[in-house]
Amino acid sequence: MAVCYIGLGANLNDPEQQIRDALVALKQLPQTRLTAVSSLYGSKPLGPKDQPDYLNAVAQLQTELEPLALLDVLQAQEQAQGRVRKRHWGERNIDLDMILYDDLQLRSERLNLPHHEMHKRSFVLLPLAEINPDLTLPDGRNVSAITPEFDGELHRLKPLTELL
Ligand code: ATP
Ligand code: CA
Ligand code: CA
Repeated sequence: MAVCYIGLGANLNDPEQQIRDALVALKQLPQTRLTAVSSLYGSKPLGPKDQPDYLNAVAQLQTELEPLALLDVLQAQEQAQGRVRKRHWGERNIDLDMILYDDLQLRSERLNLPHHEMHKRSFVLLPLAEINPDLTLPDGRNVSAITPEFDGELHRLKPLTELL
């Protein structure tokens, strides 16, 4: 069993429902348990600014799926929710990023683990710290030690625990 964290983001076509639909799909994955879900957060877009604000959350899974098999199902779920790729860091119905997969370090064309920008992103770090305040990041720091730097960039909106 691996412990894996998934970052969810959405800013088109009822983003809250998109996040909820994706969480229900994660809950239904084979050989996988959804073990924690952060609150729902609001953030400003990365990249192009002429797009709606984002909603974000992070989910914790326990899974027997291998990393690439998990990436396959995440990408299939993005497609099932009608994600259309228009421009880099552009608007989308749903984005499902694998943030961490145990302590695995992997650099390949399809999959980088840990996620390459996790340490810079408030919408990843604050929800991660909410789920697991004791988490040690890949650089050895404790997640709770660095989240204060990002306070103010992200708005905590409401819990999503009813999805567990
Ligand atoms: P960013 O990766 O900076 O958050 P993005 O999520 O908008 O940007 P996408 O267009 O969703 O980028 O994904 C581009 C590619 O990234 C995917 O086709 C996928 O193969 C690859 N990728 C590499 N590492 C990961 C990861 N840890 N989780 C999800 N996709 C990844
Ligand atoms: Ca992303
Ligand atoms: Ca992505």
